[in-house]
Amino acid sequence: MDDTNAGSAGQTGATGIALLSRLVLIGPPGSGKGTQGQVLAKELGIPHVATGDLIREIVEAGGEDAERFKAIMATGVFVPDEDVVAIVDKRLSKPDAARGYLLDGFPRSLEQARLFAATRAGATLQAAIALEIPVELLVERLSGRLTCLGCGASYHEKYRPPVKKTGVCDNCGGALVRRVDDEPVAIRQRLQTYDEKTRPLIEFYEDQECLSRIDASGTPADVHDRLQALLGVTNDK
Ligand SMILES: [Zn+2]
Repeated sequence: MDDTNAGSAGQTGATGIALLSRLVLIGPPGSGKGTQGQVLAKELGIPHVATGDLIREIVEAGGEDAERFKAIMATGVFVPDEDVVAIVDKRLSKPDAARGYLLDGFPRSLEQARLFAATRAGATLQAAIALEIPVELLVERLSGRLTCLGCGASYHEKYRPPVKKTGVCDNCGGALVRRVDDEPVAIRQRLQTYDEKTRPLIEFYEDQECLSRIDASGTPADVHDRLQALLGVTNDK
């Protein structure tokens, strides 16, 4: 089943062959983690697994867990670590994750990382990649973010303004607004939460000797190149 390094481009549309393919991506809000993760996973032909999406799917599908999670989240609390880890473990036992996986937004805390390390998939984790970026740059990136009220597309005042008309979505003509989450006060709060809950993971994975650090400043293409180099991806085009 595991045709390591055989490419198998036809099967999944993967164009890259990577030396490392069981991955965790760690990065603060604004580090470009989500975008980089999606591109990289697609390129490697491995599933991009974001816990937020998984929990949303469960809630939408209904059932016992859905009701329980809904009740928990309605009180403004996160789904318990044991549940999150179980959800991820179940997802990673699906056949498409046999060649690897890229986890985005998980583990979110030390406790989750410890529980995950004890699972079958977690025990074979190859690399935790920390996207590192100066905090001033994060604030600039996040506070300039604009979101379309119509279709949800994102823009940036400085880095990715709409090409047709200021304040108007290129796709659908909707109004571009700054989300409450992207207001300076909220940004500082999000970064503080990251520092408290998630940053300790960097040390955890350093102790496990599987941590890699990537400079996440510069353009998305720059960061992508650095990730490819780190993972030993060669594009077999
Ligand atoms: Zn739009």
